[in-house]
Amino acid sequence: MTRAVLHVDMDAFYASVEQHDDPRLLGKPLIVGWDGGRGVVAAASYEVRRYGVRSAMPMRTALRLCPQAVCVRPRMQRYQEVSRLVFGVFHEVTPMVQGLSLDEAFLDVTASQELLGGAVDIARRIKRRIRELTGLTASVGVAPNKLVAKIASELMKPDGLTVVTAERVRAVLDPLSVRRLPGLGRKTGARVEAAGIGTFGELRSAPDALLWPLFGRYSAWMRERASGIDERPVLADVEEKSLSAEDTFEHDIGEPRALQAQLARLADLAAARLRMRQLMAGCIGVKIRREDFTTFTRQRAVAPPTCEARAIAAVAAELLGRWLAGNPGAKLRLLGVVLTELNCASQLGLFEQAGRPGRLDAALDEACARFGSRALRRGSAIE
Ligand SMILES: [Mg+2]
Repeated sequence: MTRAVLHVDMDAFYASVEQHDDPRLLGKPLIVGWDGGRGVVAAASYEVRRYGVRSAMPMRTALRLCPQAVCVRPRMQRYQEVSRLVFGVFHEVTPMVQGLSLDEAFLDVTASQELLGGAVDIARRIKRRIRELTGLTASVGVAPNKLVAKIASELMKPDGLTVVTAERVRAVLDPLSVRRLPGLGRKTGARVEAAGIGTFGELRSAPDALLWPLFGRYSAWMRERASGIDERPVLADVEEKSLSAEDTFEHDIGEPRALQAQLARLADLAAARLRMRQLMAGCIGVKIRREDFTTFTRQRAVAPPTCEARAIAAVAAELLGRWLAGNPGAKLRLLGVVLTELNCASQLGLFEQAGRPGRLDAALDEACARFGSRALRRGSAIE
């Protein structure tokens, strides 16, 4: 299936927020930045860009280009507040959101289309919702991959919506200036142009002899990029770094079988939490606290990542078993299962294969959701 990837980018973000919050600034050449000798431009309104002012430019240079510009100090807290609203809109349409900065993100909406209409409808909906909630405009690129979506969102700023279908990738990219290739950089861009390569089309069809001195072993990769080929997945932001289930016992436990039963219960609980968030764990660990409060952790990486309770419990049991063998007679006051290296299940593409929760796990999840986590336990979790 062809992927549908959006790149959403707020227009002149900081400057637009300032103009929205203080209408006296509307229509004015506005620079958001720190003034003083060594300040730089954090954002430039479209009115001031006409004078050649760009973000990251020294403030002094900017004011030489446009002496009548209005300068305001950045209010980061306010931008973060607006950013949360914008990202809230993204999460209304897909969990596959990869933030690049406060005002920019990739969204994989391939799977959302069935529910929300085509990718273009989803893009329109995002623009409308952002305007409703923040009063600001965003530009959106719709494409089969991240690279083309990113280029597309730039083409019709501000308030743009640019759609590049898989069939039209070359037709759209070929005439564009190579300067629009993300990551090329100003210096390399100048060298590429000096070599007689001015457009994506020329870069795509340039002979090795021309590319090698410019890009070396990256020549083939650059040619692919100029052709609009990009297989990188949208890597959804995972907020949690780790997920765990642990218990402090009423009375310290020393009996290995009782400890393993507790651990199996905790593994079930941790796995259920993992699946509820549609995550997979790439590393499974146990937390062990002795009666004297000394705490130990043991962990092991698993490949592929998993969200299956049985797999998690098996690794945890082995880790605990090994620790118990080295610490005979130890009494424990706390046990925990700690899952780390979390990934979004759908983005790994593993959910349907190795990591798919078995029917038993699914039944446990449903029962826990209906009756609470203490309602059901598997046999191994009962002494
Ligand atoms: Mg932006």
